[in-house]
Amino acid sequence: MARVYNWQLGREMNYPYEGVYPKRQFAFVFNINRCIACQSCTMACKSTWTFSKGQEQMWWANVETKPYGGYPQSWDMRILKLLEQANPSGQSWSGPPRDDPKRPYGHFDGKTIFEAEEMLTPDAARVLGYLPSDDEWNSPNIYEDNPVGPKGVPFQWHQTGTQLPEHSTWFFYLARICNHCTYPGCLAACPRQAIYKRPEDGIVLIDQKECRGYRKCVEACPYKKTMYRGNTRISEKCIACYPRIEGRDPESDGKPMETRCMAACIGQIRMQGLVQMNPDGTWAEDRYHPLYYLVHVAKVALPLYPQFGTAPNGYYIPPRWVPRPYLRQMFGPGVDQAIERYENADRELLAVLQLFRRSNRIIYSYKVEEGPKVYEGTLRGRRVAIYNDTVIAFGEDGEELFRTTVEEPLHVRPAQHANSI
Ligand code: SF4
Ligand code: SF4
Repeated sequence: MARVYNWQLGREMNYPYEGVYPKRQFAFVFNINRCIACQSCTMACKSTWTFSKGQEQMWWANVETKPYGGYPQSWDMRILKLLEQANPSGQSWSGPPRDDPKRPYGHFDGKTIFEAEEMLTPDAARVLGYLPSDDEWNSPNIYEDNPVGPKGVPFQWHQTGTQLPEHSTWFFYLARICNHCTYPGCLAACPRQAIYKRPEDGIVLIDQKECRGYRKCVEACPYKKTMYRGNTRISEKCIACYPRIEGRDPESDGKPMETRCMAACIGQIRMQGLVQMNPDGTWAEDRYHPLYYLVHVAKVALPLYPQFGTAPNGYYIPPRWVPRPYLRQMFGPGVDQAIERYENADRELLAVLQLFRRSNRIIYSYKVEEGPKVYEGTLRGRRVAIYNDTVIAFGEDGEELFRTTVEEPLHVRPAQHANSI
């Protein structure tokens, strides 16, 4: 076992291979507060990559209704239960979140999926995990829009769910793709070394010629984002639409373009980019990169289940209305600060939030130009002032991609196209 530094855990950890890091890493931020579960992202991926025979149950991109939904069913409950067994004294964090990009969430004291030695058999498994049953893969949308959950009997529901003072029930939509992790569980577990991380962008791929369908990756990925194809007997996974990232989409003019699931997002919750990496696997400072800003400066976007230890490169702005213990388990100890900042966004954060989905081209940096004050008043008991600032997005070569304002632009369709786009 090598020792690698995992900044999301604020410490070194065991990993089967030495850390090797790309110059830039594929990463994304999803703002859960805005997802409406329209499933446009899911279908954009499905109609691009997984529409063939044998791929019927392959949903590289999916959106599940939490807390009861999941694809495969109960994926997170099952891996969390295994982690509980590996950490009988709890999966706890110590030290408060800090202003230190090497340790922003404090220190994770528990064992990751790579460190649960006593639960792993040297010949059978390098990574703590499980293989979902066929039943668990069968229903990608089970419990969608259901806020009360199962009763333990098929097709019967509880009459009430977990209750809040404000609402009798709660749920939220969790959109998911492969996290193209810095320390992928799938890659660590593959006995044929058929899985690799691309040096140019950190995208994790399965070499289809090398794979023999042992499903060790399916067992080891804690997010269950590698999938087995029965008719070819090999595994497949999200490829991060790499031809688009490389600028090979016919629409992209040779410039890096965001993935299909990002581009299709109706709720405008998704932003994807390529962040610069340091030689030790931490993010290089890049103050005006929108993802660096959201993750390391504003700290409103957090990794999904960082305690698994794979250093996922998908980040989420947590939903404001969900009970905090649930969110702390899902996104770690930065949750309270992230929600506080999101609810009381300052000028820069309000401007950066406007960058989501104004273009399908990948944004490399932004600039904010100050505009006039358009509102002054009280919000949740605090005095606020809102300014109609302009945010400008720049591409790979520093060219301007677009500019937009904090006040949403209003477009009036001409009368002859009143009912069309
Ligand atoms: S999310 Fe799963 S499939 Fe994707 S890189 Fe991480 S471990 Fe591998
Ligand atoms: S397209 Fe966007 S809003 Fe619609 S389900 Fe997907 S992530 Fe949510």
